[in-house]
Amino acid sequence: MAVNEIDDEAGFADLALGPELLKALSGLGYEEPTPIQREAIPPLLEGRDLLGQAATGTGKTAAFALPMLQRLHSGHPLGEEGGSVEPAGLVLVPTRELAVQVSEAMHRYGRDLGTRVLPIYGGQPIGRQLRALERGVDVVVATPGRALDHIGRGTLPLKSLRMVVLDEADEMLDMGFADDIEAILQDTPEQRQTVLFSATMPPRIDGIARRHLREPVRIRIEREAPAAGEAPLIRQSAYIVSRAYKPAALGRVLDVEAPTAAIVFCRTREEVDQLTETMNGRGYRAEALHGGMGQEQRDRVMSRLRSGTADLLVATDVAARGLDIEQLTHVINYDVPSAPESYVHRIGRVGRAGREGVAITLAEPREHRMLKTIERVTRSRIAVEKVPTVADLRARRLELTRAALQESLMEDGDLDRFRVVVETLADEFDLVAIALAAVKLAHESTGAAADEEEIPEIAPRAQRPERGPRDDRQGRDDRRGRRAGGPMSRVFVGAGRTAGVRPQDIVGAITGETRVSGREIGAIEIADRFTLVEIPDGAVDEVVAALRRTTIKGKRPIVRRDRDDAPRGRR
Ligand code: AMP
Repeated sequence: MAVNEIDDEAGFADLALGPELLKALSGLGYEEPTPIQREAIPPLLEGRDLLGQAATGTGKTAAFALPMLQRLHSGHPLGEEGGSVEPAGLVLVPTRELAVQVSEAMHRYGRDLGTRVLPIYGGQPIGRQLRALERGVDVVVATPGRALDHIGRGTLPLKSLRMVVLDEADEMLDMGFADDIEAILQDTPEQRQTVLFSATMPPRIDGIARRHLREPVRIRIEREAPAAGEAPLIRQSAYIVSRAYKPAALGRVLDVEAPTAAIVFCRTREEVDQLTETMNGRGYRAEALHGGMGQEQRDRVMSRLRSGTADLLVATDVAARGLDIEQLTHVINYDVPSAPESYVHRIGRVGRAGREGVAITLAEPREHRMLKTIERVTRSRIAVEKVPTVADLRARRLELTRAALQESLMEDGDLDRFRVVVETLADEFDLVAIALAAVKLAHESTGAAADEEEIPEIAPRAQRPERGPRDDRQGRDDRRGRRAGGPMSRVFVGAGRTAGVRPQDIVGAITGETRVSGREIGAIEIADRFTLVEIPDGAVDEVVAALRRTTIKGKRPIVRRDRDDAPRGRR
């Protein structure tokens, strides 16, 4: 698809979604479907099976969730009034984080339809899940292991399923769920609709698709690259930061880059409003621009930007279309865009007519793969750089002060009127000391407020090792032998079997929150009261920080690098 065609594309309303869903989407501030949604929703609404290659960040959750909600609801009412109390939809996901995330998303989209969605995953007390299942749910979002547990107990009936989704199928295989998935699918009704999303399409995924999908529609978000020359020449880079540090990282980037004017792209109206407020609170002059604003309001924003009263425009894709702001030097993607086309479209706001442009993307660890896809499709390199540290920032600010002083010296305008100050002070102080004091004053007057917040660095995800066809479950035990690269260290987690911890929970928490992939995790040893997990040495700090943020059984466990010298008994 040519990059500019996006402008003419249909909105959600043209995708035959019902009014309840449209209302929910508008309430969430989604202005238009992402490319994967545009392609997946119509065939799914028609009942087709679908095989989609899409990574996190493409909007794939809504791509299957919206049609699922609509189809489960229409024709066959859900809930107690006449409908089945058995689940009609099942979504299988690799991790508990994703289970929670997907069911929260489905709950939000399906609020007005009254759809009851339940996440079930290992590590959560089974009793609560049993009670919820007994009350009746419409959609279950589950990790395969726990789903199979419930199926075995007879508490997750599959015979009323009308739609099954395998989300992040390649991750599920990596985590050793191949057999579980096969077993679950075998037990589902033949007439069900099946959807499979995967970031990569190795032969084993193809195998699952061949066995379990019927004449699926195939969708890939990466289509032809823009013609050579279509992509503007722009300095492109990316920083990997966790969600919590994004506002700080954006501030840091702005301080270091010192753009004349910048546009920051967000996905939704809500994000635009929130970020604008946050950045204004942090002392930047930010203005919001999104599709929910009237023309008059938008005009006011644009004139503030053009006149230099504002230097930061926070916008959605839709709102920023067609804008040509001459002063613009920087495009910042607050999230990785949902498709390569959208990336190209966004960064095309700068670097026009030979002007210099900079495009910076803030990516969450999980979005790293999407970044790689964009790089490949746009045939451009996006250098992943270290987020500038407090020291980098100080150095940069000093450099700006130095440049300003140099300019002032070269202009040699009316400096003479300050001579009397220097000369009187020179009676008492050394000339260099006087100069230093003057530089200090000049530096401080630039409003360079002390930003002392260090933004944790997240190490780039290591390359996945090749693996041959084998049973994943067994594969997990001999990881140490297979991982030729780098030394491993152990991380201690102060929760174990008694707290209901299972290997999938640990793997899920790590892969969901860090850039360590399932394959890079080594042996997991679960004792009654604690768990030890092997992690590539370089990623230990990141994993410890991430696990400290998660809760296990409602509590935050103690997490630390394992001290090999500590006697086991005292842990
Ligand atoms: P996913 O790829 O499903 O993990 O979605 C990535 C993010 O994009 C989530 O935070 C969604 O809420 C958001 N999102 C999904 N679809 C849209 C859309 N059409 N417009 C704006 N944001 C969206």
